Amino acid sequence: MTKILVVEDETAISNLIAVNLRKAGYQVTCVYDGMAAADALDEALYDLILLDVMLPRVDGYELMSYITPLEIPVIFLTAKASVSDRVKGLRLGADDYLTKPFEIIELLARVETVLRRYHKTESILTVEDLTIDTGSRTVRRGEKAINLTKKEYELLLLFVRNKNIALYRETIYERIWGGEYMGDSRTVDLHVQRMRKKIGWEQKIVTVYKVGYRLEV
Ligand code: CA
Repeated sequence: MTKILVVEDETAISNLIAVNLRKAGYQVTCVYDGMAAADALDEALYDLILLDVMLPRVDGYELMSYITPLEIPVIFLTAKASVSDRVKGLRLGADDYLTKPFEIIELLARVETVLRRYHKTESILTVEDLTIDTGSRTVRRGEKAINLTKKEYELLLLFVRNKNIALYRETIYERIWGGEYMGDSRTVDLHVQRMRKKIGWEQKIVTVYKVGYRLEV
């Protein structure tokens, strides 16, 4: 399920966005200031962030320096209609922006477009000598094709998209298996171990004590 983080301090707007995105089938988390947004990004993985510019504590522009290394697409929500603010947002790495007030249909269209663009532009992922083609869902190490099961492939993508970040077993479970994690780590451990062995990444996907795993590259 596509997860969207909404960072917006005006609760009426935040609620309106959340209700409509949920209706459209997205999983939505709302936070109301910049610090809470940074905390949310530490705790879970998101596919897209809707980011208000004017926020208490840490504003949207400042938050971009935190978001950029995570490679999560961002749509700025701005009350300011000035061209310089839009340019600043885009220059900082935002994928798009919406000027408030906006129609819900426009919001949904932009969310869809950014998500589609994002998945499309990263069809070939390369990490050292490993190449992942997300179009054909094939994995090669150098010239050698590696056969992964569907879950192992999804796990690999999760690690590659979150390089050098410790992923909690709980997060891994929720992202790959989709249900609620009940504390049984064997499923996650088994799949991670098999996947990294097939790829030869026993030294790269490391166990993080009491947390889970991290891809170190
Ligand atoms: Ca605001």
